[in-house]
Amino acid sequence: MNNVDPQEVAKFGDQAHHWWDKDSQFRPLHEINPLRMGWIESLAGVRGQRIVDVGCGGGILAESLAAAGAIVTGIDLSAKALSVARLHMLESGVENLDYREISAEALAAEQPGAFDIVSCMEMLEHVPDPASTVRACAALARPGGWVFFSTLNRNPKSFLLAIVGAEYLLKLLPAGTHDFARFLRPSELARMARAADLSVFATQGMGYNPLTQRYRLTPDTSVNYLLACRKPGG
Ligand code: SAH
Repeated sequence: MNNVDPQEVAKFGDQAHHWWDKDSQFRPLHEINPLRMGWIESLAGVRGQRIVDVGCGGGILAESLAAAGAIVTGIDLSAKALSVARLHMLESGVENLDYREISAEALAAEQPGAFDIVSCMEMLEHVPDPASTVRACAALARPGGWVFFSTLNRNPKSFLLAIVGAEYLLKLLPAGTHDFARFLRPSELARMARAADLSVFATQGMGYNPLTQRYRLTPDTSVNYLLACRKPGG
């Protein structure tokens, strides 16, 4: 099965020219980027690590990881997003960064166990079969390696904040950006991770304060959250 929803990928491709515009719908990704970077850095350390960023889009996280000294491959199925990522990489002069148009499943078949760290951020809620992506991420990590996910929780509060609030009231995101049915509870994502032979190491919430218009790390995983996993061995 091809684990991709072409409409979802087209949606990101159509907006790709906005990717590095911090006042666009990609602003939330720019805002959460230092938070997730800091969390990954504190748990796994990134300097000198081989990292694959799955569903990298325009390269917001991939570029920061490379700038922090990692050797990074960013993969996505949106050719347009990857063009923007490559252009921005040239502009910022970051080294040790490579982008490829390939699925996580295909790269996992090609280079199993090749990465110290796998990151897959804000992407699982856009694919038809997230468990397949989780398995591919697990396969990409070396024994003892780290796998980081982030996505949106599924409950009445996340419906209100992430869909009604973000898409309709605050208009942080275009209407239709997210499909509530594809949100994943931390318990569901943890189950997928364990089924892929990963051990769940930690969860971390990210919260948005509409008054200060800032995101922050919080223990509350009820809307946006991160999950850190480890692959046994190593
Ligand atoms: N991870 C980036 C971008 C998140 S936006 C960040 O957090 O900054 C979601 C990205 O997932 C888009 O770039 C979209 O093209 C990509 N995507 C959606 N389905 C995909 C799939 N099946 N395989 C790879 N990338 C996919």
